[in-house]
Amino acid sequence: MTPRAAAIVVLVLVVSALVVALGLLVPWGTARDATGSVTPDASIDFTTAEIALGDRLSRLLVVPGLTSLGLSLGLTMLLGFTPIGVKVVEAVARPLGGGWFWQATVGGLTLLLIVRLATLPFGAWAESVRRTNGLSTRSWPSWGVDVLKGFGLSAALTLVALTVLIAVARRWPDWWWVAGALGAAALVVVASFAYPLVVEPVFNKFTPMADGELRSSLLALAEQDGVAVDDVLVADASRRTSTLNAYVSGFGNTRRIVVYDTLLKQAPDAEVEAVVAHELGHVSDRDVVVGTALGALGAMALVLLLYVVTATLPLDRWLGLSGVGDGRSIAFLLAFIAVASFLSTPVQSAVSREIEARADVHALDLTEDPQAFAEMQRRLATVSKSDVTPNRVLYQWFGTHPTAAARLATARAWALVHGGVDVPGPLAPAAADEGG
Ligand SMILES: [Zn+2]
Repeated sequence: MTPRAAAIVVLVLVVSALVVALGLLVPWGTARDATGSVTPDASIDFTTAEIALGDRLSRLLVVPGLTSLGLSLGLTMLLGFTPIGVKVVEAVARPLGGGWFWQATVGGLTLLLIVRLATLPFGAWAESVRRTNGLSTRSWPSWGVDVLKGFGLSAALTLVALTVLIAVARRWPDWWWVAGALGAAALVVVASFAYPLVVEPVFNKFTPMADGELRSSLLALAEQDGVAVDDVLVADASRRTSTLNAYVSGFGNTRRIVVYDTLLKQAPDAEVEAVVAHELGHVSDRDVVVGTALGALGAMALVLLLYVVTATLPLDRWLGLSGVGDGRSIAFLLAFIAVASFLSTPVQSAVSREIEARADVHALDLTEDPQAFAEMQRRLATVSKSDVTPNRVLYQWFGTHPTAAARLATARAWALVHGGVDVPGPLAPAAADEGG
């Protein structure tokens, strides 16, 4: 069997495993079933003015957002799928001796910088929309620092991984995909475990929540849920955003509940509990483990597909490359990854929506307080001035959570089915209070 035939067999096996895992591990249908007989309707809980504001804001943000995405994808493809990227990589590595290592690292960094600089104005445009509308509380210098940190982290991770891949391909030109696929899976696992320890502290500072009723009730909630929690921390999110959030991160005896200071300032305790109960749902349903397993299989499939594609296409005639072990292949590798990640976005979003819907049901089961859950959903949406009637196509492609209207319908459906609690009434302030 040729290496290519072997890789195709393994690729078919890994893709089959991924399809089976997607079928078995993702709670398909939860997002639809959770709303039960209640039809999601934003106009019950949001005023006409609130709906219009969210709609206007999302229109203002979608222009720089999609332009930046399209520019980034188009430019990365132009550099990677034509000889232009190869020429750039050669030019910047030449003063360093032109070896494959400098081509992959300094060359790769140059390509990433070109794309980042081209999309920077659109990032600044979106940030200025968020600032004018009170969603971002960052100063421009602190926005710049965040952009630098984000770019540095992702560039370092990408280039280290791809340089190792190129090194392995140089050593085993026909069989690098075996080590490459296993290494990619291992990288996904390590990154998912290291993320809360390494990345979170780069962007936020955490302080233990002061002793008091809320801290005790959050710890009691976790205990009731059978989730071991080491601490409750407050993140200083208000330095950069006005949006509300909380999450649970870490594993075993490092697991902690993290609550944004913005949430503490604005929401009553019952709503903070509803948010934390949702996050505990992610822990007790092992959503991080599920996401990591799916991500690892996806990464393996990506590496195998990369081998099959590069062993099939005439890369030498097309781009003048001897193969993936050629340091200048970094341009092609970056473009290949960019296209794959864009095309897999709708699948990732659909998986996320089902998992988020399950965590919502978990929160309702745990707190048995659909009223607080519903008020919390209204607050999250109005504070972040989110679009509660999103564009259907964009929502299918990028929407990671059920819509606010669907989550409010979930609270009402839960109350209807479980009885013993009042079904939350309409939450939109009366029309007379709308001020016009
Ligand atoms: Zn969630």
